[in-house]
Amino acid sequence: MKLELRNSLSRKLLRVVLLSALAVGLVLSCAQIVFGAYKTRQLIEADAQRILRMTRDPSTQAIYSLDREMGAQVMEGLFQHESIRMASIGHPDEGLLALNIRPPLRLPTRWLTDPIFGRDQQFSIPLVGKPPYNEYYGDLRITLDTARYGQEFISDSIVILIVGILRALTMALVLYLIYQWLLTRPLTKLIEHLAQINPDRPGEHKLPMVKGHERNELGLWVETANGLLASIEHNMQLRQEAESSLHRMAQYDALTGLPNRQQLQQQLDHILDEARRLQRRVAVLCLGLDDFKGINEQYSYQAGDALLQALANRLRDFGGRLGALARLGGDQFVLVLSGIEQPYEAAELAQALLDGLETPIELDGQRIRLRGTIGITLYPEDGDSTEKLLQKAEQTMTLAKNRSRNRYQFYVASIDSEMRARRELEKDLGEALKRNEFHLVYQPQVDYRQNRITGVEALLRWKHPQGRLIPPDLFIPLAEQNGSIIEIGKWVLDQACSQLHEWHEQGFADLRMAVNLSTVQLRHPQLPDMINELLRNHQLPAETLELEVTETGLMEDIEAATHNLHSLRRSGALIAIDDFGTGYSSLSYLKSLPLDKIKIDKSFVQDIGQDEGATIVRAIVQLGKSLGMTVIAEGVETPEQEAYLIAEGCQEGQGYYYSKPLPAHELGLLLRQSRRFDRALNSELR
Ligand code: C2E
Ligand code: CA
Ligand code: CA
Repeated sequence: MKLELRNSLSRKLLRVVLLSALAVGLVLSCAQIVFGAYKTRQLIEADAQRILRMTRDPSTQAIYSLDREMGAQVMEGLFQHESIRMASIGHPDEGLLALNIRPPLRLPTRWLTDPIFGRDQQFSIPLVGKPPYNEYYGDLRITLDTARYGQEFISDSIVILIVGILRALTMALVLYLIYQWLLTRPLTKLIEHLAQINPDRPGEHKLPMVKGHERNELGLWVETANGLLASIEHNMQLRQEAESSLHRMAQYDALTGLPNRQQLQQQLDHILDEARRLQRRVAVLCLGLDDFKGINEQYSYQAGDALLQALANRLRDFGGRLGALARLGGDQFVLVLSGIEQPYEAAELAQALLDGLETPIELDGQRIRLRGTIGITLYPEDGDSTEKLLQKAEQTMTLAKNRSRNRYQFYVASIDSEMRARRELEKDLGEALKRNEFHLVYQPQVDYRQNRITGVEALLRWKHPQGRLIPPDLFIPLAEQNGSIIEIGKWVLDQACSQLHEWHEQGFADLRMAVNLSTVQLRHPQLPDMINELLRNHQLPAETLELEVTETGLMEDIEAATHNLHSLRRSGALIAIDDFGTGYSSLSYLKSLPLDKIKIDKSFVQDIGQDEGATIVRAIVQLGKSLGMTVIAEGVETPEQEAYLIAEGCQEGQGYYYSKPLPAHELGLLLRQSRRFDRALNSELR
């Protein structure tokens, strides 16, 4: 903010000072001029008297002796004075002895001075004889022309006036500079500093003290302003604190400090928006304590409050995993799990919560064991709004409490039973390895160029204690999620390698074993060491072990996968990419990965009858060839599919058309059978 110079304070002061100095100067000058006029009058009078006195004696002499000659001489002497216009010597009753006149002076200032001093002034002096007689002889008269005096008076007046004005101007200028220096400059600086003050933090920067003005009004002004700014800031802070504590009171539960229902609704709105955008699931868990009323009655309400606070703190420990945590009131709490993929994640949290409640809470020296019931709703399945999800979760919790306590319940019955079954299965899975419930089956892989079985794929089977066979598609994801896949995978590898060694011993020396690797296993840092150890322990040539990794698994984290595959590859085992075509691998990634084999996913093989499937299969075969990789088709079920695959140049095939996955001894029979067939074929050819 720059002040316009025209409006500046010192300008205004300059104007005022200038005008008043001029006025005062003029008045003073005028007084001086009037005084000058008075002085000039006196000067005229004094001059006249002096002239009269000087010529009195010769004039007396002349009139006494009636000497005209002498009178003329006196006149001549008198007229040496420029201002004498007329002079005479004579007795009033007789004629004049001498008279001289000359015209008035022609001076340009006359018009001004004549009114002041008169055109001319007359003076006379009586001519008398010597004492003691003192005889009167007549008068000496002179008339003085005032013009010359007037001219001098005018020039003096002009000087007085000019000096007066100049003095006023100088005074005004000096005052202006002083004001500018003392007032305007410091004020302008202060204004600049004021303009820079942040209205939100007025006390943040102090106004600087103006140097040299510490003890005067300016200094006082700066101090007062600084004090004012600081107290404004202080007040603002107080108000903000008051506002935020009001806000807290409105948004948070006073007892536990957790968000209340209102705040929860806002948070959940946000979480749902986000989930909608990212197409993720959200779980809302409503936890109610079983028999909190009883605790209140048995102990005291204070004890109940302390218990709720302790519980809130315990729930806060889950904070890291939670999108929101709130207390709805009473003994009800809500936990929101945001961005989940599967309902089981909510089930796991619920179970962890229930397990956590079992740990007793110490209260007044008593150990109180809590129990709770949890109702769970899922977005988007159970509702797409905060209100619906919350309401249904509460309702589910209440209903569950009525049936049985200390458990969780999903709003949708099918999910609930699925979760329960899953939980059961997970429990059983944890025991399966110990109880020896796993076994492997093997499915042969046929080489189309040699027309014989060159490899087998090991596939895991779980025989549940209740007698059912659980398909791997069901339990492998479970094992991946709870991490037990590492142990199970190790067992599979060991089992497959030992079986392969046995077959090698039986004479199928070049037989290859393909083993499926889960992504979780692939990420395990010890995997390459483990593979090396297995190869050594079972005395297997490295290239007879083939590890299958799924394309989607690789693409989840391409950088880590590249790293892991390279270290795996150093063991010498072969690497195949399973379910090829279902992920979205790009050519550049494929080139950078150390892959030996591409396994066309069975869905495409199944679609060979249709144009699209046939085209995809052809493309994958071409791709494999161009990358120098072997291509195998899985899920081959018909001679037509086989014919197409061979025609397109696919090197290997696997599927029900050749054999279902078989137990080891059955596969051994198949191998022997096909060797006999080979021999027969060979001898026939010979
Ligand atoms: P996958 O690796 O793609 O295995 C091929 C699946 O296709 C096997 O199912 C096999 O029985 C089936 N199959 C074979 N030939 C045909 C056919 O001609 N037609 C049809 N429709 N299906 C055929 P399975 O044994 O149920 O295995 C399912 C998946 O479980 C496997 O898919 C693999 O991803 C996983 N899996 C199996 N065993 C293991 C294991 O030891 N470790 C790991 N990590 N995963 C395994
Ligand atoms: Ca496989
Ligand atoms: Ca596959």
